[in-house]
Amino acid sequence: MTNDTLRIVIVGHVDHGKSTLIGRLFYDTGSLPVERYREIERTCREQGREFEFAYLMDALQEEREQNITIDTAQSFFRTAKRPYIIIDAPGHKEFLKNMITGAAAADAAILLVDGTEGVREQTRRHAYILSLLGLRQVAVAINKLDLAGYRRDRFHAVEEDIRRFLHSVGIVPSYVIPISAREGDNIASPSPRMPWNQGPTLLSALDSFSPAREASRLPLRFPVQDVYVWDRKRIYAGRVESGAVRPGDRVTFSPSGKSSRIRSVEKWSLPSLSLASAGECVGVTLVDELFVERGEVMGTADDDPPRGGTELSASLFWLGNEPLRLNGRYILKLATAEAEVTLSAIPERLNSSTLEVIERHAERVENLEVANVTFTLSRPLAADTFEENPRLGRFVVAVEGFVAGGGIVREVRTDGIGSRARVIRLHSRTMTEPDGNFVDLSQEAGPVEFDLSPGFIDRLGKGERLAIRLRTADQLEKVSRLAFGHDLAFEFRRDGEGAKVVLYRVGPPRVPVIEDAGPVI
Ligand code: GDP
Repeated sequence: MTNDTLRIVIVGHVDHGKSTLIGRLFYDTGSLPVERYREIERTCREQGREFEFAYLMDALQEEREQNITIDTAQSFFRTAKRPYIIIDAPGHKEFLKNMITGAAAADAAILLVDGTEGVREQTRRHAYILSLLGLRQVAVAINKLDLAGYRRDRFHAVEEDIRRFLHSVGIVPSYVIPISAREGDNIASPSPRMPWNQGPTLLSALDSFSPAREASRLPLRFPVQDVYVWDRKRIYAGRVESGAVRPGDRVTFSPSGKSSRIRSVEKWSLPSLSLASAGECVGVTLVDELFVERGEVMGTADDDPPRGGTELSASLFWLGNEPLRLNGRYILKLATAEAEVTLSAIPERLNSSTLEVIERHAERVENLEVANVTFTLSRPLAADTFEENPRLGRFVVAVEGFVAGGGIVREVRTDGIGSRARVIRLHSRTMTEPDGNFVDLSQEAGPVEFDLSPGFIDRLGKGERLAIRLRTADQLEKVSRLAFGHDLAFEFRRDGEGAKVVLYRVGPPRVPVIEDAGPVI
């Protein structure tokens, strides 16, 4: 028995038996509260209906939604080897969205195909999404073979079909298993009704999969979720998405390129850890207290640190009701970063269930279509290709605050915008003007970046103010980001010489709450 939970997703065309299979998995592994089972049996009998495992699923789902008795532990099922979590409910309206956004990062998948109906539209669409998400551990279950007389030739015909399609999307299934979810054939024990089958049962197939732990072997990716000042320390909080971080490591932030050394790795209750690896939410402190904002990604300086890009090529699945339009402006969210982007090219638009190219050099992508696209970013963002590092190679696109699509990064390009910015250093020695602290940006027409020292923040904390003379609205945006990231307030003023802002500090520092932000949104 291991405690390494395996997260599985069960996909397939509507009515091919997903809910029934889930009920069966709970039942056959003894993971279902017996009263629940009895209750549903009784209701079915009273209503003169046949017992349906799918009702179990509905009942579990209802309870979960109402939050009554089912806690997360109970939504697991267990084999002798390990606990499992079934991610999301099939048929749920958010299902595709959750899969795409990574809110539901699965280790393995069961693709269910009705043995009497064969491969259908959603079978193909879901298979494509599995491939888009890079899921490599896939078991295909050919279901309802009881309705096909448990015939070997029927199984093989459907097996051949699904293998051919999966091959076209780059998936080699680990197993193709003949089952009947309703009758319980080949789920927990080999079925005597299909003696011709020599392969494993569905549960032993699942037990052979491993939790996706490769993330710890990839280079460090630590997207900064928040920066706190606490107990005179500047704490950079976030989740280690891949790799590991240790005190003493030399680190670099992308896209700013700032670097330092790790002083400590901390958790709220454990102030000095020797290591934090993929999946852990921690705070780190640095030897130099850098001004780094939410959205930057920390990597190890000498182990392939993340790069900033200003143009991304991507494969995208569109869920928006309104089409995705060429030259449209969207918000792209990648790890903890957000950037305004322009959809600058749609080289290919595809049908997501047949994968046929519908159009080249398209002007729009419709609901439930797939496309290869290029985004031009308003500012550099740290990204990896999905192939290099899935944790930083996946994004969602938001429209009016809602996720309307998502995809994976195929290529990251940069035009060097980041390096052109003029760095304005705000150190304690900046603050020597006789009539207060003053920075003049009125001669700076190009992009600027602020570099802030902790000493400077301390002085503002003691009630000092900083006036900044502005030339452009972009500079104002930079100041507002500075204020946002460091709990500062500012006032915008105009006088005879133009625009200026006054930056100051109010109130005590925030108490840090290190939360799990999830992989993408
Ligand atoms: P879902 O839409 O994929 O969740 O499919 P359901 O689990 O709701 O199943 C759809 C219908 O197929 C239900 O009436 C089930 O009883 C039936 N069904 C599911 N699995 C089997 C099976 O192995 N054999 C038979 N005969 N019917 C099944």
